[in-house]
Amino acid sequence: MTEIIDGRALSHKIRQQLKQRTVLLRARGIIPALAVILVGSDNASQIYVRNKHRAAAEIGLATQDFKFPDTTTEEELLELITKLNVDPKVHGILVQLPLPPQINAAKITAAINPIKDVDGFHPLNVGQLFLNDPQSLPCTPHGIMRLLAEHQINVAGKHVVIVGRSNIVGRPMAALLLNADATVTITHSKTSNLRELTQQADILIVAIGRAEFIKKADVKPGVVVVDVGMNRNAAGKLVGDVDFTEVEPIATAITPVPGGVGPMTIAMLLEQTVRFAERKIGG
Ligand code: NDP
Repeated sequence: MTEIIDGRALSHKIRQQLKQRTVLLRARGIIPALAVILVGSDNASQIYVRNKHRAAAEIGLATQDFKFPDTTTEEELLELITKLNVDPKVHGILVQLPLPPQINAAKITAAINPIKDVDGFHPLNVGQLFLNDPQSLPCTPHGIMRLLAEHQINVAGKHVVIVGRSNIVGRPMAALLLNADATVTITHSKTSNLRELTQQADILIVAIGRAEFIKKADVKPGVVVVDVGMNRNAAGKLVGDVDFTEVEPIATAITPVPGGVGPMTIAMLLEQTVRFAERKIGG
């Protein structure tokens, strides 16, 4: 029987624990707070931000909303970030990506105080992660590590193949796995022998944004599959980067879409904000 790796269940469990941690913080006069900056009118971004607000409120985390029009300048954003960086009431700062073209996203990310960088995208945090001394972890890869741990899937010594090398998923995922003693192969759109590599994976992590791209013939029987992708198929249904119907029967364990990696990303964002607030009491 293939094990279905249930991200909803673990996310729920983590959020219940976080509720208790925010109660303790509030009892000591600390209201954990996340500042969320949204620029422009991108539909998906607005939905993500709304979901983050709802999830934060449910665990007792305060959110501060900063909405800017599409025409906002880099200077305006930097001015706000500079203020939030030193505001003792703000523990986490999140800038929803993507940003409009006139704004240099790398510059904005680098302007965030690394100790408030809940997304773990600041170059200092990226560097520390790669040096195996992480201070802030990118939410999606962190959530994947927690899912694997919860299901007692040990990565040490395993060959993990990652498909996708983005800054938010593939690259930090590789660093986390390497830190956990996995043998890691990173593949991408220019990889010439992709199938040959994916077939070698003990654990396959796919983050490319191509609906049901990975088929049965791409994996070996007994593989553990983590599907990060979120795509709409021709029928408008939300599907992953892995063809679940084909791959699930031959896998040992697999994350579904929806209900796998997605819920964990948000749980990790909340957890990191609470952890940052706990620094105030030496937690
Ligand atoms: P990006 O578009 O930033 O990166 C995609 C990566 O996939 C690139 O490295 C690209 O290669 C690679 N790629 C694209 N096509 C192929 C191919 N045919 N073969 C091999 N590699 C390929 O995407 P993200 O990392 O931001 O997101 C990936 C997916 O994960 C999306 O569906 C996104 O919606 C989802 N996602 C889900 C999250 C969640 O919480 N569940 C969080 C973040 C993302 P190259 O570098 O050569 O261009």
